[in-house]
Amino acid sequence: MVETEGSKVFADNQSKPPPATMVSPEEALQIVLRVARRLPPVTVPLHEALGKVLAEDVTAPDPLPPYPASVKDGYAVIASDGPGEYPIITESRAGNDGVGVTVTPGTVAYVTTGGPIPDGADAVVQVEDTELVNSSSGEGKRVRILVQTSRGVDIRPVGFDIKKDAEILKSGQRLGAAEIGLLATAGMMMVKVYPSPTIAVLSTGDELVEPTTGCLSRGQIRDSNRPMILAAAVQQQCKVLDLGIAGDDEEKIERILDGAFSAGIDILLTSGGVSMGDRDFVKPLLEKKGKVHFHKVCMKPGKPLTFAEIVPESPSNMKSNKILAFGLPGNPVSCLLCFHLFVVPTIFRLTGWSNPHLPRVQARLKQSVKTDPVRPEFHRAIVRWEVNDGSGSPGFVAESTGHQMSSRLLSMKSANAFLEVPPSGSEIYAGTTVTAILISDFSSYSMSKGLESPDLGFSTQGHMSHDVVTAYDYKGSEFRVAILTVSDTVASGAGPDRSGPRAVSVVNFASERLGGAKVVMTAVVPDEVPKIKDVLKRWSDVDKVDLILTLGGTGFTPRDVTPEATKDLIEKETPGLLYVMMQESLKVTPFAMLSRSAAGIRGSTLIINMPGNPNAVAECMDALLPALKHALKQIKGEKREKHPRHVPHAQADTWQRSFESASGGGKETGCSCSH
Ligand code: AMP
Ligand code: MG
Repeated sequence: MVETEGSKVFADNQSKPPPATMVSPEEALQIVLRVARRLPPVTVPLHEALGKVLAEDVTAPDPLPPYPASVKDGYAVIASDGPGEYPIITESRAGNDGVGVTVTPGTVAYVTTGGPIPDGADAVVQVEDTELVNSSSGEGKRVRILVQTSRGVDIRPVGFDIKKDAEILKSGQRLGAAEIGLLATAGMMMVKVYPSPTIAVLSTGDELVEPTTGCLSRGQIRDSNRPMILAAAVQQQCKVLDLGIAGDDEEKIERILDGAFSAGIDILLTSGGVSMGDRDFVKPLLEKKGKVHFHKVCMKPGKPLTFAEIVPESPSNMKSNKILAFGLPGNPVSCLLCFHLFVVPTIFRLTGWSNPHLPRVQARLKQSVKTDPVRPEFHRAIVRWEVNDGSGSPGFVAESTGHQMSSRLLSMKSANAFLEVPPSGSEIYAGTTVTAILISDFSSYSMSKGLESPDLGFSTQGHMSHDVVTAYDYKGSEFRVAILTVSDTVASGAGPDRSGPRAVSVVNFASERLGGAKVVMTAVVPDEVPKIKDVLKRWSDVDKVDLILTLGGTGFTPRDVTPEATKDLIEKETPGLLYVMMQESLKVTPFAMLSRSAAGIRGSTLIINMPGNPNAVAECMDALLPALKHALKQIKGEKREKHPRHVPHAQADTWQRSFESASGGGKETGCSCSH
């Protein structure tokens, strides 16, 4: 019933070619999937492999069971002995093999399920077919075997479940719970998988204010697309980078995009600013930065979707040097719909899925739906299984979510499917079978009406995904890192922060080698001792981050004061780190000798001054990596006992604040009411 490839409506739509400037949704998806390439594999610990696609074949290093094992609790016997009373000469329980004892004719051994069969025995008689004999004092235990058995009964021979060297998993296989179990059986504690992409999300529009804004001035609306798309990306197990809100300001959008492109992202998602307005700058900017493949799709909603391929000038992106950029439409429904139809398959392709298409089922319409005369429509619906789908037989039915205006986000609420409605201008009547593209886990909807509750179903799905993400977040942020850019130029807005985003990407991509370090805060301050000290103190004493990297202000100019601010605060110096960074930097430039960097420990925080040059940051981090994890662990050992950890700030919130300060991406509102 579930189809996973191809597209009916797209195919049906071939009879009506889209207007010349537009591509069909089918073509658009083909283009995107042609450009998207899976990311280079990484090796992760088994507990991080769930949901990922395997990038290696796995064979069994030993057979399972590794010894002949009993299938039942009972007695290992020699089958030809037959029924009768026998002495129990040994006991072989799971995990303990009743060492060295051989079952000879006229004797039996007690065995438990999974226990090794003692030498000599060739069958097991289950305990239910035996009786223990009350033996007089001094005699060993005896049992009465009540049935005749035959050789091999209730014994799993060596390799019965898995043969030695058998291929148990193939590259390209998605890892669910069973596959994790198989990897554990094979003793694979580290697994080669395709990583999840990093997705940056930006909202554009002069009308947008932060969702936290209490009182809206005339012409303002709260930004719903960014939290929504960040959530959708997290639901797909992606790492996210919140770029905040940019107004309809070409220069500012360009600055933020440049920062994002150098931060090691794989996918850029903007929303808004791709229509025909005179302040819609996203498409021209993507044209300037890379190759736009299409900028209009013949579909409803989602027509202004723009797709481009960007190759950053100096790629710091270590996984691939190509960034896929989607200019999503501003209307919230169009925005989320395009995410599902085009970005989710892209994520599937990047993460190594062999079939990147969303699953489809056939469902009977509960209500009649109108069709557009020209554009194929994606009608939001709740699809569920009913014992009578209207035809007298069980099947899937599709319930419309109501008014389908592209601004009405309520039409996406609880929707688990998009119905493919081909263009004809006429009505499709209730009871007609249509194709439904599934966009969320189906299990919660696969129940008969009367039992089902669409709202509950959807939130259950969301909750499950959230739990997985939380676990990942916890594991990923064992060490919390903060990055402080010290620069008059960046702080005054006169120039972009190149080092900050670079350092973020260097740390996040070295995360594994750093024992799960994650950047949780960034900020920019001018070259002023009190301001530098202020942030360093807050991050070490209040936020208790594990590692602070400062960038810049370590040279000979009169304004370079980062080491002075740092030295004022550190309690223990760590000169070895400086020595290693100096050694590494001298290989690149003799000017490295002019570094006056400081490094040391304050409380439970390690503070390291790094140079301001973006490349030097990467070199220094590389040099420190071999010992940094150990250093952080040692410092944390004390901290765990003395200071309970602070609950980390929500990741998106942190990113948002950091990008507001780093790129001026945030937005103040002129609200004057008292909230
Ligand atoms: P645009 O594509 O910029 O012309 O925006 C189309 C519509 O979507 C307008 O009504 C915008 O106000 C709305 N819109 C754009 N961005 C967002 C957003 N981030 N959150 C909510 N609505 C938005
Ligand atoms: Mg706009």
